[in-house]
Amino acid sequence: MFEVTHVDPSGARIGRLHTASGVVETPAFMPVATNGSVKTLSFETVAGLGFDALISNAFVLYLRPGLEVIEAAGGLHMFMGWDRTVFTDSGGFQMLSPEFYEKTSEKGVSFRSPLDRSRHLLTPESCIDIQNRLGSDVMMVLDDLVPFGSSGDALLASVERTTRWARRCKEANRSDGQLLFAITQGGTDPVLRRRSADALVEIGFDGYAIGGLSIGEPKEVMSRILREQAEILPKNRPRYLMGLGSPTEIIDAITSGMDIFDSTFPTRNARHNGAYTFQGYLNIYRGGFKDDTAPIEDGCKCYSCKNHSRAYIHHLLRSREQTGKSLMTIHNLYFMQRLMALTKEAIREERLSEFKEEVSGPVASKYAGRL
Ligand SMILES: [Zn+2]
Repeated sequence: MFEVTHVDPSGARIGRLHTASGVVETPAFMPVATNGSVKTLSFETVAGLGFDALISNAFVLYLRPGLEVIEAAGGLHMFMGWDRTVFTDSGGFQMLSPEFYEKTSEKGVSFRSPLDRSRHLLTPESCIDIQNRLGSDVMMVLDDLVPFGSSGDALLASVERTTRWARRCKEANRSDGQLLFAITQGGTDPVLRRRSADALVEIGFDGYAIGGLSIGEPKEVMSRILREQAEILPKNRPRYLMGLGSPTEIIDAITSGMDIFDSTFPTRNARHNGAYTFQGYLNIYRGGFKDDTAPIEDGCKCYSCKNHSRAYIHHLLRSREQTGKSLMTIHNLYFMQRLMALTKEAIREERLSEFKEEVSGPVASKYAGRL
């Protein structure tokens, strides 16, 4: 169940998604735990940062360690040791990568395991069976993705197949307790986007993700599509923009009516020395930080900034110490949490567009010490 508690004039919303494992306050950013782990962090730390939900990958876990291992542990939550909400992605996106992908037919997607080159066919039915057995709180349908720039005919075929597969996923679901989200397709074509959303809404899902975006289209085009999709999708269902990257893009998408996000960017960038701050993006590996006694971000109340200097973290990164990557990841995820909290506050006070301008401009640093 999803309740919207506040909508501002731009269409940005605050809400609460109820799952079998608890409540997810939206707008929500989810850390990515593809293999069942938020890289370099314990779940005690992830929970301590205040995350209500994370997203794992059903297809990757099916390949390794395999469903039997996870079922024997009592399901994915028990296996990982995380009792809050878990989303599972079907893995359709990964399967498009050339190292896995073989072909798509009406039946499903054939691919080879990158681990042992074994052959697998993922169908809408098997995709749901895997997620039922994992016991995630929110399952994603299998969708038919086409690359950015695909022609009208290929896009139309993708929209129609995505609809047929979504229906098959819904019919295959054997669990009442798990929510099932559909994924709209249609590239940047407004007519096909509408057609995809309309068809999926008619079948009826617990939430809707906007798929096939953030793969090369201009920013304005994405904002337009999101606003149009938000008008079509039911008001009482969460809207999930999958795999979207930067903090400013996420605020843009919230302004366009999106509720839930995930991205590997904050964690991956952290492991590659990049810190998100309200003063801008900092590469802590750079020589200039060698003897800098300030924290990563002045005023930040995360564990890393409260306890350590840029100089220390710079030293750990240069020495290839894992702790350096952990401390960077903690800071970036804390930054994302602050960004969501400040965005929520701005929605409530109906000054989101002002906030959006501020965080992308020179006065962004005034938010550094907030929350
Ligand atoms: Zn910090």
